[in-house]
Amino acid sequence: MRPVSRRSLIAGGLALLASACSSNRSTPSTTTAVPSTTDRATTTTTSSSTTTTTTAAPTTTVAAPTTLAPVEFADPFTLGVASGDPDATSVVLWTRLAPDPTSADGGMPEADVELAWEVSATESFDDLLVAGIAVATAADAHSVHVVADLPSDGEHWYRWRVGQYTSPVGRTSRAPAQAATARFASASCQNYEAGFYAAHRDVVEQRPDFVVWLGDYIYEYAAGAPGAVRSHGTAEPTDLDGYRLRYARYKTDGDLQAAHRSCPWFVVWDDHEVQNDYAGLVPQDPAQAPGFAVRRAAAYRAWWEHMPVRLPPPTQLAGDPTAEYRIYRDAVWGGLLGMAMLDGRQYRSDQACAGQPAGLEPPCAEMAEPQRTMLGAAQEQWVGATFGTWGTTWNLLANQTVLSDLRVGGAVLNADQWDGYPAARQRLLDQLGASSNVVVVTGDIHAGIVGRLGGRGVELVSPSISSTSVLPPSYEPLVKLLPSVVDAELGHRGYFLHTVTGTEWRAELRLVDDATVAGSPVAPHATYVITAGTNDVRMA
Ligand code: FE
Ligand code: CA
Repeated sequence: MRPVSRRSLIAGGLALLASACSSNRSTPSTTTAVPSTTDRATTTTTSSSTTTTTTAAPTTTVAAPTTLAPVEFADPFTLGVASGDPDATSVVLWTRLAPDPTSADGGMPEADVELAWEVSATESFDDLLVAGIAVATAADAHSVHVVADLPSDGEHWYRWRVGQYTSPVGRTSRAPAQAATARFASASCQNYEAGFYAAHRDVVEQRPDFVVWLGDYIYEYAAGAPGAVRSHGTAEPTDLDGYRLRYARYKTDGDLQAAHRSCPWFVVWDDHEVQNDYAGLVPQDPAQAPGFAVRRAAAYRAWWEHMPVRLPPPTQLAGDPTAEYRIYRDAVWGGLLGMAMLDGRQYRSDQACAGQPAGLEPPCAEMAEPQRTMLGAAQEQWVGATFGTWGTTWNLLANQTVLSDLRVGGAVLNADQWDGYPAARQRLLDQLGASSNVVVVTGDIHAGIVGRLGGRGVELVSPSISSTSVLPPSYEPLVKLLPSVVDAELGHRGYFLHTVTGTEWRAELRLVDDATVAGSPVAPHATYVITAGTNDVRMA
């Protein structure tokens, strides 16, 4: 049991709040709290559509939950619950009300809906610590993000209630002030048609402290890909309704929901949240340039609606669709880990050498142009000002595309990766080199690769959760021979499970036997060890 003095409470405030709540976003709540963030450069971190009620007057235990008026719609918790972006005092709680996930509006009435959120120290919720009322608005597809102040470090449980319905229960925490060990998963690339989410089931069984998601949460492809084991359900999304339907389809997966319930996630995006290989405002196919900014703005909006991120709602779709939407940010975990989370898609120069097929020819001159960028000038400057300043043992970069040098005799096999942006890569490596104990976690390429970054640190590329191989597994011996590569596994789906202490980083590559088979087993493949102070990695 927790001492009473550590409880925060609502003190009968639920009914009061319910009456004070309104769909008018500017309506102030007397108890709204906007916690600070570790991201020093971001000024707005909380969704303006949420109302949070936290630790205002800790004198008595939280009152028993107020009865909420019954609602007319069916059980709205078909997309699960999630939490994310924990900081030293709080965590973001998420859900989206969608009685019918196959309908673009989720099967919800037009009206905004009040719902209650509750946090307890126990999974049975016999002792509420923090609670409040939020408003799920139709404008946000009835998604809701609440910043919940947690009264202490360690495991907490949360749930949502609306009308006669109660959501599944999620486990979460804030970022601890001190931690002897951090365990987290890094993962990406969960093409729903390509496979089942055995890897997520395994994440749940491993009970990490958090998940770092590196992008390709959805794939935009039309339903019916050859070899599909299940269906995306809809045509390729190009507007807000289309992207909402795609996220809803993904989020109906039980293993994915369980992985979100198991711990908080830190989420960034890659290309498929919008379109394969897009670069800034340039679509994959230049012929699709007209209207692409609006499409991108719709995709960004749907991403925010469905992710448990500590970010303001994107407004580009209703305003200037070409305006930037910043998601790069940082986080700190227990004195062990500082993390910079990158956006390698929104600001990048278009891929160079268009029309030159991958091969062993030297790249075109354009690729080496010094002004070409992966992160954009502002994000590059932010990395330089932020990375390694956390006072933590380890300095982590959450990154989209492979940073290690995978060139073969100077030829660039994949111009979408950092290999295709050599000047920008050099600038980033110079920035990383100012710190020690640098680890880069990467996704995108659907392969497990461990690389050395020229003495600046180590890269751990996690395989896809379910997406099929990009590099043919027959290339594995060749990739292993590359000077920067320590190890490579190209034939299986999976993720990295990291166990980090003040002296050692152990990265376990966990692989799915066959992701096209529901319920496929998952097992450790190999463990890679980084001893603090070495900036180098070895097989365990
Ligand atoms: Fe992918
Ligand atoms: Ca990708």
